[in-house]
Amino acid sequence: MANKSLAPTSATQFSVKLSPRGATRLKSGHPWVYRSDVAAEDIPPGALVRVVDQRGKFLGTALYSSSSQIAIRMISRDEVANLPALVAERIRGAISYRKGIVSDTDAYRVVFTEADFLPGLIVDRYNDVASVQILTQAMDAEPVRAAVVKTLAEELQPAGIIERVDARIRDLEQLPPRKSGVLWGERSSTVITMNSGTVSGETSCGVRFHYDGLEGQKTGAFLDQRENYAAGAQYAHGEALDVFCYQGGFALHLAPKCSSVTGVDSSRPALEMAEKNAALNGRELEWIEGNAFDLLKDYAAAKRHYDTIVLDPPAFAKTKRDLEKALRGYKEVNLRALKMLRPGGILVTCSCSFHVGGPDFLGTVSAAAADAHRSVRILESRAQARDHPILLNVPETGYLKCLIAEVNY
Ligand code: SAH
Repeated sequence: MANKSLAPTSATQFSVKLSPRGATRLKSGHPWVYRSDVAAEDIPPGALVRVVDQRGKFLGTALYSSSSQIAIRMISRDEVANLPALVAERIRGAISYRKGIVSDTDAYRVVFTEADFLPGLIVDRYNDVASVQILTQAMDAEPVRAAVVKTLAEELQPAGIIERVDARIRDLEQLPPRKSGVLWGERSSTVITMNSGTVSGETSCGVRFHYDGLEGQKTGAFLDQRENYAAGAQYAHGEALDVFCYQGGFALHLAPKCSSVTGVDSSRPALEMAEKNAALNGRELEWIEGNAFDLLKDYAAAKRHYDTIVLDPPAFAKTKRDLEKALRGYKEVNLRALKMLRPGGILVTCSCSFHVGGPDFLGTVSAAAADAHRSVRILESRAQARDHPILLNVPETGYLKCLIAEVNY
């Protein structure tokens, strides 16, 4: 169902009425209202809508989705006359916010959906390439897309703007299929440099990674871990193991501080790119392709020891229902890692599952330390990099936990 010509983005002609529960939810500060709390008739996909309560009192302006369970996402407390103009203004605001909090990197998140008041829009900057992801019907409307591209071209002056398409999300939003591709300019691949001047006090040139927005497997570092790479590197020493290393994000940051670094991942293409990234930085690291659970079990049984271990697994809990199983997974890898760390050793342990809350994660690592009979001090309790802002009242915007801990004895 194309919404190209249907979605009215320049005038709020449509109104939706919220149930009392929906109105209460909005008043609590959360911008989403679910379909069961919305009375919406004959509203085109992706329309800009006026939101009113049972008595007809105006509550603000929202983006409507005809297919998502999240029927409306608020975009303003006021009337909105022109959505593309508002989107352009919000993008400029997001860029200006980053000027204050991002330094020492040419790769960072420029727009993070609700956390930048742009529901359904993600923009990442990789040096001279900007990557756009569109996740909702309203953001997919042609005039909005045009405003996004024009604003990014003006403000970031990249050599290329690409769109990365998530086919599953387009399907869920009932948007016509689309291919990833270049939206503006020509470039879709580049080299990024992050944490220049801050890694290990030893080098001022930072760590470099290949980025290709379109070819084959997704490349580029996980931008949300950028500040944690530098923080972890600060404490890293001796023999290091980076488990779930992907394309070497942590491993390459640890390398200047450690006598040896081994990266482990189950994905061969990820390790091939990790090796290319190592070469780009003039480093020699060891990469092992394998299942982290089996490898940690074997290494712990063989009484291998390390001075620094990083655990950065994929989201074990994709939904709330997976929580218990996920916590068992986190406990297992943390237990084995803690057993293998020498006294004075450093554990950098992460969880990117939104459904695993900070206290759940801390409790799990605590239980692992108790079972491993280790005394562990928390050096830092961290989250995602600040270019992935966490919006108060929108818990979904805060998902990454990263503990840096020292095993004392
Ligand atoms: N630390 C990385 C990001 C890790 S993403 C960085 O900062 O760039 C999670 C990684 O875990 C992916 O690369 C995925 O291939 C890998 N992975 C998933 N399941 C695995 C398993 N059972 N064993 C080893 N690696 C696994």
